[in-house]
Amino acid sequence: MKKQHIETTCVQGGYRPGNGEPRQLPIVQSTTFKYDTGEDMAKLFDLEANGYFYSRLQNPTNDAVAAKICELEGGSAAMLTSSGQAANFYAVFNIATCGDHVIASSAIYGGTYNLFAVTMKKMGVDFTFVAPDCSEEELDAAFRPNTKAVFGETIANPALRVLDIEKFASAAHRHGVPLIVDNTFATPVNCRPFEWGADIVTHSTTKYMDGHGCGVGGCIVDSGKFDWSRYPDRFPGLCTPDDSYHGVVYVQKFGVGGAFITKATAQLMRDFGSIQSPQNAFLLNLGLESLHVRMQRHCENAMAVAEFLAKDDRVSWVTYCGLPTDRDHALAQKYLPNGSCGVVSFGVKGGRKAAEAFMRNLKIAAIETHVADARSCCLHPASTTHRQMNDDELIAAGVSPDLIRLSCGLESKEDLIDDIDRALGAV
Ligand SMILES: *Cc1c(COP(=O)(O)O)cnc(C)c1O
Repeated sequence: MKKQHIETTCVQGGYRPGNGEPRQLPIVQSTTFKYDTGEDMAKLFDLEANGYFYSRLQNPTNDAVAAKICELEGGSAAMLTSSGQAANFYAVFNIATCGDHVIASSAIYGGTYNLFAVTMKKMGVDFTFVAPDCSEEELDAAFRPNTKAVFGETIANPALRVLDIEKFASAAHRHGVPLIVDNTFATPVNCRPFEWGADIVTHSTTKYMDGHGCGVGGCIVDSGKFDWSRYPDRFPGLCTPDDSYHGVVYVQKFGVGGAFITKATAQLMRDFGSIQSPQNAFLLNLGLESLHVRMQRHCENAMAVAEFLAKDDRVSWVTYCGLPTDRDHALAQKYLPNGSCGVVSFGVKGGRKAAEAFMRNLKIAAIETHVADARSCCLHPASTTHRQMNDDELIAAGVSPDLIRLSCGLESKEDLIDDIDRALGAV
């Protein structure tokens, strides 16, 4: 069979029912699973057999949805988490612990910045933040002997910088560490980072994948391409015996393609327990079934809004990588040829006060701490999601104090533009 198109995987991937089984993905609303003998269950506890015993570790509904996202990204294994925050924490902490160092692009989501720069720092993991457009030399200079990973976002939330995935991947690989890419805003419909050299992909499925604002969730996907066993001293967690599982060595037992996700499930999910509820996984799967159709419309609406804003002299600047004038347009043409995302950021003349007045006057787009929803919404990050940052950190993250993040939903683009036009008039 020819390689299946992504549209078909969105609809049909993951769950493949057998004869007489439910057509729609069943919600396995059960915390636990029954076994005839203690020995049967013991094998599961020892990672000797595949199966379910407790939904904190694995659940069939979640696994089917993770399998669909894995197929969409072209990975070897995947797991769902309770949130995007949990996904990014697990993806990094699975290989970088106390005494280790990680390099991250400075243009990342505020919550991820906080997780890295504050909370994980307290846990003893050190981060160096580099500008997304830094030179190869600057990137090389950020590495230390204890560096374990490089991290970036395909399209940064809310700065909308496009990551040069090949540049970051080749730097990571020159230094023998994986590149982790948060692909939330692009989704695999618009970019598959593994095709450009990324090793691990994470998602906040809360955004476009769900797409209807109904469930917070996350996902981690492994490409299966990073060979941990080449660097046993750098990745002892994957390459040396795990005492909590009778000395299992993850790369030996589960191979290059299975080690990362098995370890994250067996250790991190077991101990931290940030599992997604099967009910939410079901809702996420409904969202995934139309992801390809929705992404196209989100991008079309955002492009129309960005073009309108770029021409309007009440607007001081617009960032949308689809615009030919955008500083990341060339990167977008390379990595996001079919469209980027539905989020546009811009400044209104008059700064912070004007931004607030503009947002108050919008009738369609509501003020929300959310993006990537079917309903348009907007936010002023400097006073909300990024308020813990000082002005220097804001500028490094690509978030100017007047930045408005507008997430274009699936409404009519004419109506969205009318609404924006009227609200700009009311400022
Ligand atoms: C929202 C978001 C997150 C955090 O995800 P939650 O599901 O809210 O925990 C991480 N990364 C990016 C790029 C996001 O947009």
